[in-house]
Amino acid sequence: MLRTHTCGQLNSSDDKKSVILCGWVATRRDHGKLIFIDLRDRYGITQVTFIPKEAGESYQIAQGLRAEFVVKITGIVNSRPVNNVNPDLATGEIEVLAKSVEILNPSLTPPFEIQNDLEITEEIRLKYRYLDLRRKKIFDNFILRHRLYQLMRTFFNLEGFIECETPILTKSTPEGARDYLVPARLVPGSFFALPQSPQLFKQILMVSGIDKYYQIAKCFRDEDLRADRQPEFTQLDMEMSFPDEEDIFALIEKLMQIIFKELKGVDIKIPFERLSYKDAQDKYQTDKPDLRKERKGDFAFLWIKDFPLFKYNPEEKRWESEHHPFTAPLKEDLDKLESSPDKIKSRSYDLVLNGVELGSGSIRIHDQQLQEKIFKIIGLDIEETKKRFGFLLEAFQYGAPPHGGFAFGDRPAFSDYRRRAKY
Ligand code: ASP
Repeated sequence: MLRTHTCGQLNSSDDKKSVILCGWVATRRDHGKLIFIDLRDRYGITQVTFIPKEAGESYQIAQGLRAEFVVKITGIVNSRPVNNVNPDLATGEIEVLAKSVEILNPSLTPPFEIQNDLEITEEIRLKYRYLDLRRKKIFDNFILRHRLYQLMRTFFNLEGFIECETPILTKSTPEGARDYLVPARLVPGSFFALPQSPQLFKQILMVSGIDKYYQIAKCFRDEDLRADRQPEFTQLDMEMSFPDEEDIFALIEKLMQIIFKELKGVDIKIPFERLSYKDAQDKYQTDKPDLRKERKGDFAFLWIKDFPLFKYNPEEKRWESEHHPFTAPLKEDLDKLESSPDKIKSRSYDLVLNGVELGSGSIRIHDQQLQEKIFKIIGLDIEETKKRFGFLLEAFQYGAPPHGGFAFGDRPAFSDYRRRAKY
């Protein structure tokens, strides 16, 4: 390494050590006989002091340093006198007295200062995303996501789940949005669809006997942009064989409890309240009520279950799935399937936090005939069903186990576009 230490590492126990630091010039203060550089890297900031006597020829170079120059500084750690200690800085007990400095790369004057509180437009931040990410506040979001991923992976691994990848160039996996299409050069006139979720793959993995699957998966949905939508986003996706709703609730509750404890230091109470869709509508006129006032807490989790299986699309004069068409109906409603689709409840569920839908899932259909019936009710004819979902219906005939799962994404609002579902 070009350096001996990072910019967040040194303290008074390193007094008088000879060190080499590399990083970006955060600020330069020229006091005539003294130049102070705040040197920044991902780990922190270290004050470097140039005194002509110590720095020799490097003093001139230091005079030419500007914000965001990349430099390598060799020097001696010097404990600061007690009244000069900067308690706001992890390295505030020391400074580095520079012996020499090498400019590894100069920088243009950046379009904005690299500091936490900035009043700049999002366009500029996104154009210069690499500079925005040098701000600690923004960088910390990356760390948070990294820690979240570590937690989720550890959790699912300990619970016996297997992390599986699924393809990106694939057949359509309907979640209610439009597909992104990619031309297949080797089969002119044909297209791959990018997956809206790994839904069908994870179901087929259950047929394979994987038993417990999870994945941190990219999903692609071509829909109108809104604050909480973007064309590609990430899901934590899971599926298991032989569960009922309560098994999935218990697993996800345990995961949420660990995430909130580890990342926020907050104890959340489990089990979460369960509310049927009907009761939620009767009581709160919404399927994602915000129960913070009633509970007097900061985090009001609840499960909403027993959604209707279908809803009527008056424009197209047909029934469509409220969740997705692979969701199982409640057993006791099965006999009404053809006579009154509007009365059938499904085994789907949403996890709601403070009025926001975090994710959803369901117990699935694993029976080929029932799945075929559902496709028929939502208006797919036999030919179309075969073409689009023949592989699934076939797989179901080779011993598909009962299964169910859940997914939550890095954006809220799953249900709105489902309501616009078109198959
Ligand atoms: N695949 C569904 C979604 O993307 C979630 C699930 O049913 O597991 O919302």
